[in-house]
Amino acid sequence: MGVRQWIEGWPVVRQLTGADPLGRGAAAESRVTSALRPRTSQADRVVASVCPYCAVGCGQKVYVRDGKVTQIEGDPDSPISRGRLCPKGSASKQLVTNPNRVTTVLYRRPHGTEWEELPLDRAMDMIADRVIETRRRHWQEEDGGQRVRRTMAIASLGGATLDNEENYLMKKLYTALGAIQIENQARI
Ligand code: SF4
Repeated sequence: MGVRQWIEGWPVVRQLTGADPLGRGAAAESRVTSALRPRTSQADRVVASVCPYCAVGCGQKVYVRDGKVTQIEGDPDSPISRGRLCPKGSASKQLVTNPNRVTTVLYRRPHGTEWEELPLDRAMDMIADRVIETRRRHWQEEDGGQRVRRTMAIASLGGATLDNEENYLMKKLYTALGAIQIENQARI
């Protein structure tokens, strides 16, 4: 960079010689700031989504580049949130990109003090075994002479990350199992 260019780059020179005499706009902007571009401008795809964290269900725009999430912002077209996200929703990119997120099944056996990693198939089998055994042990055919055919030992509490279709399937599953306490957090 030449001396002249360097001097002309000074904010006070730009303020005195340019179109921003009060130094509250372009004159106060550094070259680094001028070169900054929003992460959203580099996306090759924008996908409409819903924040998975709570029952409000704020609309999100997920910016993707080369198959990776680069930014998540509020969706102005959402009638629920009209472009807004709370701090949790604004940070939801971390949900998919944070290197500290847990990606394996962790199991702490009864009276254990350490977490153990389990293969997913093994964990699924363990859960299925416990569900079947609990249902078998606590099955109630009648209550006070009235036919009920239920189990009070199994309940489901769904979270806001479940979509409509998943909730539909969970309701079917738990009803088929004979559970009657089937709830979801999404009740706002
Ligand atoms: S942005 Fe905040 S309020 Fe909206 S759904 Fe996500 S966690 Fe809930």
